[in-house]
Amino acid sequence: MTQASPTLETTLMVIDGEDVAAGGGDWLETRDPATGRVLARVPRGGAADIDAAVRAARGAQPAWEALAAGDRGRLLLALADGIAAEVEELSRLETLDVGKPLREARVDVRHAERLFRFYGEVVDKVHTEKLTVDGGFAFTDRLAYGVTGHITPWNYPIQLFARTVAPALAVGNACVVKPAEDTPLTALRVARLALDAGLPPGVLNVVTGLGADAGGALADRPDVDHLSFTGSRATGERVMAASARQMRPVMLELGGKSPSILLGDVDVAELVPTLRSAVLWNAGQTCDAQSRILVDRAIHADLLDALTADFAQVTIGPGMEDHDVGPLVSETQHRRVSAHVGAAQTAGGARLVIGGGRPGGLDDGWFFEPTIFDVSDPSSPIANEEVFGPVLTIVPFRDEREAVRLANGVGYDLAAAVWTKDIDRAFRLTSQIRAGQVHINSWGIGSGVELSFGGIRQSGFGREKGLRALDEYSALRTTTVRVVAGR
Ligand code: NAD
Repeated sequence: MTQASPTLETTLMVIDGEDVAAGGGDWLETRDPATGRVLARVPRGGAADIDAAVRAARGAQPAWEALAAGDRGRLLLALADGIAAEVEELSRLETLDVGKPLREARVDVRHAERLFRFYGEVVDKVHTEKLTVDGGFAFTDRLAYGVTGHITPWNYPIQLFARTVAPALAVGNACVVKPAEDTPLTALRVARLALDAGLPPGVLNVVTGLGADAGGALADRPDVDHLSFTGSRATGERVMAASARQMRPVMLELGGKSPSILLGDVDVAELVPTLRSAVLWNAGQTCDAQSRILVDRAIHADLLDALTADFAQVTIGPGMEDHDVGPLVSETQHRRVSAHVGAAQTAGGARLVIGGGRPGGLDDGWFFEPTIFDVSDPSSPIANEEVFGPVLTIVPFRDEREAVRLANGVGYDLAAAVWTKDIDRAFRLTSQIRAGQVHINSWGIGSGVELSFGGIRQSGFGREKGLRALDEYSALRTTTVRVVAGR
């Protein structure tokens, strides 16, 4: 295997432009999910480190916001160039840290580059409104919130770091980021690339640490002016409660149990590779994974056979060897997925068709087999709960009405897809589906950086990506001007 260890230099936090260890002198270990072995040590930051980072951000923010928009944009473009120059290194770091296949990590790194490029390019091209009114005129301009806090998860570390930080920086905020403790390495590297690109010290700070310590401290700060959170519903609730106490805007990107509705006219064999990828990408640890197939009874048996045969061919192994599926991110995640699958086997209402445990021959690391459940009782937990692993449930439906009821019935409303050759039926169904993203005969093709992304209900609120993210990270100020007529 060609695994390269990151250097120790990559393990320090970035606060006020400096590489620093935690004030308390404590360390955390991040492990390679393919082997379970320690990959790197990172500082175990806590409240004092968050304090230093927020102070640094507060100090740097006014000058950052005062820069001409185009100058801020040029620095973000320089950061995009810095990422582009290190695609291979960053991809390997991401694969070693998260476990995902190298080709997927490359997609993520390119995505991060595109996000910094997108916001770098648009920031001086999007203007606000001016209106002539009786006696004068009025205009709006955009105010940065000030210091923005960002708590990010472990499944797409570099991509989600860029997704939240790039628009926040573009509109003039200074950021304090708390990456997930399992996968902090690319966030630290990008923060250094930002300094190399010329971003002033203090504008982008990264504090590593545990959720409850460093994340909790960031959420509890009264002087963090906006908080962006991506992660679980339980933590989202805590972060939102803390934000309510501070009377501060918060945006939450939470989980999903996204359905793919297959109508009876589809070509099952043709669809199988896309359906596989839609659930097994990143070993199913994707918030909008299509982990629930709702299928017309008429093609249920064909679909089940075709997907089972396909899953049996999937290769599993270390991300650095670029198999179809890599390991889960951590022992904790392996335990969680195993618990869901174990409970489903005893609960009834769903039959295990393939997979269900650790693949043979892969005793080290946190590998889990691609798994399919054929669901006879749509209310069974495995068909409703987010597993966040390579686990697909297949639920047959009788008619469109039942398909829509099942699609909208789990409480998560992040994404959904409809597959059919009949465009009228496709629109009839998608118009009844509640979700932040709906796809017709596709999955993932709209997941660029230009379009808004976010959820409804249990999947959270607020929109990342696209131009609207600029509104999420800034407030509008209206100024009215009375023009006194000249003599
Ligand atoms: P998590 O909520 O445990 O962790 C997410 C982040 O929150 C981490 O950085 C963690 O350190 C931090 N955190 C944990 N406890 C905290 C606390 N008390 N105070 C402040 N911060 C705290 O989530 P997870 O289990 O690691 O991530 C998986 C979940 O994230 C899934 O539900 C998934 O669907 C969701 N997710 C959603 C999206 C999206 O875009 N909608 C993207 C990725 C992941």
